[in-house]
Amino acid sequence: MKIPFMSGKSETAIDPVCDMSVDTGNPGGGAATHAGEVYYFCGPGCRVAFEKDPEDYLSGEKSIEM
Ligand SMILES: [Zn+2]
Repeated sequence: MKIPFMSGKSETAIDPVCDMSVDTGNPGGGAATHAGEVYYFCGPGCRVAFEKDPEDYLSGEKSIEM
């Protein structure tokens, strides 16, 4: 769902661990780089999980239920 709430440049990315959308300007869990791509996370737990097994989350084999 997209809501044009603010007219600024607010971009979102999908957290690869839990599939939530994350504001790339202020990611709750920070960002991690993997294979040259930057990924953003809703919370530190998702980032830690991703950094342990990035390939599994990117391939969809693993996911976290929220
Ligand atoms: Zn997450």
